[in-house]
Amino acid sequence: MRNRMWCGWVVAMSLGCVGATGAEVVVDLTGAVEKVAGEFKFTEGPVWVAAKNELLFSDIPADRIVRFDGATAATFREPSNNSNGLTLDKQGRLIACEHGARRVSRTEADGRVVTLADRFEGKRLNSPNDVVVRSDGAIYFTDPPYGVKPEDRELDFQGVYRLSPDGATLTLVVRDFVKPNGLAFSPDESRLYVADTERGHIRVFDVASDGALSGGRVFAETPNADGMKVDTKGNVFCTAKPGVMVFDPAGRHLGTIIAPERPANCAFGDPDWRSLYITARTGLYRIRLNVPGIRVP
Ligand code: MG
Repeated sequence: MRNRMWCGWVVAMSLGCVGATGAEVVVDLTGAVEKVAGEFKFTEGPVWVAAKNELLFSDIPADRIVRFDGATAATFREPSNNSNGLTLDKQGRLIACEHGARRVSRTEADGRVVTLADRFEGKRLNSPNDVVVRSDGAIYFTDPPYGVKPEDRELDFQGVYRLSPDGATLTLVVRDFVKPNGLAFSPDESRLYVADTERGHIRVFDVASDGALSGGRVFAETPNADGMKVDTKGNVFCTAKPGVMVFDPAGRHLGTIIAPERPANCAFGDPDWRSLYITARTGLYRIRLNVPGIRVP
């Protein structure tokens, strides 16, 4: 009797929180949100580095990148050119959006930091914000003006760009966003999700084999949407004003992970890729999930 009651309580709580269909719990969002590090200024850009079993993330105003090894947080790079979004390419090299340098950079195996993109048609980028690498090596990033003074802007639009796998060609793939921000691929890379913070929604694009985007319909309403990631079942985790809002691939809202501080980005990590790390203002938080995220790289 006690076992049945216990099971019933767990299932009911899970269903109530995630709105799953039928008896199946698609994604269980009922785990505890644990604060794992704090006393930062404004955290962003988390990425799990499996080779080193650690998380890297940006503390933008502190001008540094922090490493978290599961127990302690320490400086990885300072200064960081006020880095924001971080990811890894196929070779495991760190790719960083840098507000201060208004560029996307790559850290080579020997430690040198090189510029991948800082201009479009001769004009300086605004302030690259977030970045994702496709499996073919193409780099997609967003370029809102959050990190540049209005008088210093050279471009009069806020683009989403694709840098070709050989790094030679920077293509403006979308230019009608107000504030493009977080972006993430679906598991099969047939879709790209891009958040528009100003409009408070996510748009979803179809991705052609050559990397071009088409479509661009509104996928979900997400007030003040920022960074996002996708799990291996295609569920979309988007940081927004209410918390980390979770949507199934059809755009149905499954639930929202509430953290003590307002989140700006998130990343799957830990050896089983079933932890979601959440960068939220002064803190770094973690919640365990039942579905693993898409691995990086
Ligand atoms: Mg962002």
